[in-house]
Amino acid sequence: MILILEPNIDATSEPYRRLMAHLEALEGIRHRVHQVHGTERVLTEIYLIGNTANLQEEEMGSLPGVERVIRVSDAYRIIGRHRDDEREAAFSYNGVEFSQDNLHVFAGLCAVDNPQSVEAMFRTLAEHGQTCARMGAYKPRTNPYSFQGHGSECLPYVFELAGKYGVRVIAMEITHDRQIEEIEQALEGAGNPTGVMLQIGTRNTQNFELLKFVGRQTRFPVLLKRGFGITLEESLNAAEYLATEGNSHVVFCLRGMKTNMGDPHRNFVDFAHVPVVKRLTRMPVGIDPSHSVGSRAAGPDGIMDMMHATAQGVIAGANMILVDFHPDPKRALVDGPQALTPHEMPFFLEDVRIAREAYERRRALAATQTTGT
Ligand code: PEP
Ligand code: MN
Repeated sequence: MILILEPNIDATSEPYRRLMAHLEALEGIRHRVHQVHGTERVLTEIYLIGNTANLQEEEMGSLPGVERVIRVSDAYRIIGRHRDDEREAAFSYNGVEFSQDNLHVFAGLCAVDNPQSVEAMFRTLAEHGQTCARMGAYKPRTNPYSFQGHGSECLPYVFELAGKYGVRVIAMEITHDRQIEEIEQALEGAGNPTGVMLQIGTRNTQNFELLKFVGRQTRFPVLLKRGFGITLEESLNAAEYLATEGNSHVVFCLRGMKTNMGDPHRNFVDFAHVPVVKRLTRMPVGIDPSHSVGSRAAGPDGIMDMMHATAQGVIAGANMILVDFHPDPKRALVDGPQALTPHEMPFFLEDVRIAREAYERRRALAATQTTGT
């Protein structure tokens, strides 16, 4: 059960203290207070955990300071959608709003190689009005002898250049909790010119200790990749780990499933799950066409498979696109064969715009229908 308190309630106020005293006296029930910084107000939610079946919604709703009560199903208590659940599903970070209704492109380097590539990417993004990017500093690699990323060494110039070109949010994968501190230090050192969304890669979707650590910090929002070899439910539970530790500013990103059934694509594209994740949870949903498809192969229509896959995700309502670009893919240290070039940026963005417009028209059409689900 979730108790939604009156907006901007003060933890030192009399109603709040009376409510807490009441909750503490409930037998077999623990509670956890969670502050949600929405786009317009701060909401306090209290999660009641344990034997809540006997609690009466009406009675709980009449406790001091309580505005609403949500009875949650067992699955995805915090990130999930529940009956009569009108909690805001959006969050804002460094001036960028993330929700299930809008769309952001996070284009950039799979792995940072040098300042020149970083600058070329950021310049291209700025030229095309983009304020988000991807930049890989810590790379989890299958082969121990492969390039592992420049790690903390590259952060100062990545952040400084992001500030120079007005990039507000960089999706950056972390593979260990100590890297959060490195990112924080580098941001401070550069004067906080940009923001970072901590990316948890597909190999770490079920690294529960990492999830707990990342969930306990609320400075950075999180981009959680779907696990490549586990069920959707298992991956969504990973998102719930983040939220239950305190951070529900999570974007969930589909990135294809590992199976040779998807050949010749690198992974089996799973973007038909965009509406499923939006239905089951309140998280914005991203797609990663680069790691799903894994090549620049094109169809006879002249459109690359990965752009077709992008369009499939966007026309289904995706809210973020995480996509690899490199100024000179042949020289990229990681995943060059799947990178687009800055020269292709206008083509890519226009193709995305067409797909998004089609999605919006489909949504408007659906809104005119009286029958349906
Ligand atoms: C990435 O986005 O750079 C990446 C390694 O993706 P994934 O974790 O989905 O393989
Ligand atoms: Mn990659």
